[in-house]
Amino acid sequence: MIKPLQYIVTPTTDEDFNKGMPYVTSSMIEAVNTCPRWGIVHNVLGKRFTTGYRQMALEAGSLMHDVFAGLNLLHIGIYRGFMDHMHFHGGLLFGKSRWEFVWADATKKDINPTMDSKNAFERLVFSIIATSDFYDDPNDRNRTVANIEHCALELLQYWMMCLSPFPIYIEDEKDHTKPIGIEMSLDAVFKTDNGRLRCIGLADVLYQNQETKAISLGEYKTASSMNDAWRMAFDTRHQITLYNALLQAYFGKQEEFNTILIGSAIPVRSTSAPVQHFTVSRDQENVQELLRTFFFTKELIEYYTHQPLATPMFTHSCNRYFRPCSLLDLCTAAKEDQFQMLENMVIEEAASPSEQKAMIRNM
Ligand code: SF4
Repeated sequence: MIKPLQYIVTPTTDEDFNKGMPYVTSSMIEAVNTCPRWGIVHNVLGKRFTTGYRQMALEAGSLMHDVFAGLNLLHIGIYRGFMDHMHFHGGLLFGKSRWEFVWADATKKDINPTMDSKNAFERLVFSIIATSDFYDDPNDRNRTVANIEHCALELLQYWMMCLSPFPIYIEDEKDHTKPIGIEMSLDAVFKTDNGRLRCIGLADVLYQNQETKAISLGEYKTASSMNDAWRMAFDTRHQITLYNALLQAYFGKQEEFNTILIGSAIPVRSTSAPVQHFTVSRDQENVQELLRTFFFTKELIEYYTHQPLATPMFTHSCNRYFRPCSLLDLCTAAKEDQFQMLENMVIEEAASPSEQKAMIRNM
């Protein structure tokens, strides 16, 4: 019998935040467990070789998340009628001038759009893409502006038919400055007998049952192919468990959690569904598995962060996804050269787009 870990989870206090309490993200945990050396050097220390390669999957995914957030804002403003909430949070999420530009584009031929104003919504989607800093890379024929526009139009169509009625959380209908459930940053500390663990994440959308007031997480994903294996990965993935567990810090303890997974394929293929959504479930047993895994990984991180070249090498990961790991040059160099190579690597100052958004304290 495995003894359950007793825990409480509370939002990170201002004191812990200001002191810079170390935190983990689900991508950090995944990276360290893929290969500890990769995870410590790339995700924890943020060190990179200056290759000039762009991370097209991340960039395209981030832009499609902007499109998804834009559609969810339409739910708040057009479907539910809280225009002040929509514009206030549109300004926070996109930056005030970009949101004003996007909205002006959407409404230039249709001043007061309704839920039937598909043309206005298409203009909004195109404008979000046009005002992003995404551009084509000759080395990537799948994640192109044209393919992202196609993907976004499919998402819009699907959203209008299937997703737009899902009620998004609004903390206070009378106060548009209060949080709403779109791109909500999660930053909380688990306190257990094993010690404390600060985790951050970003909930793409929070839906709220209007009768029971129960909250459900909505996670948006992009993928090159949404086959059965892709779907089944979400039955166990810790990221989903983590976000649900963190939500308890804001909405109270829950025994069971339902998450709505929404997926888009880039590029859109004629032989498979371009968008789909489905439900995945979690319970407190999954949270226990999460905590065991995260505390195990946290110990690895704490032990090896100051001696990254002593970190174990999981060489079965060197060619994951049939591509060479970007640290291969470091790991294959002579030991005496590795220290200098590590020293010369640049530190990625900026956190990933989702990590930056997650660090915004909006609750
Ligand atoms: S090259 Fe292999 S051993 Fe080195 S960090 Fe990458 S996955 Fe790990």
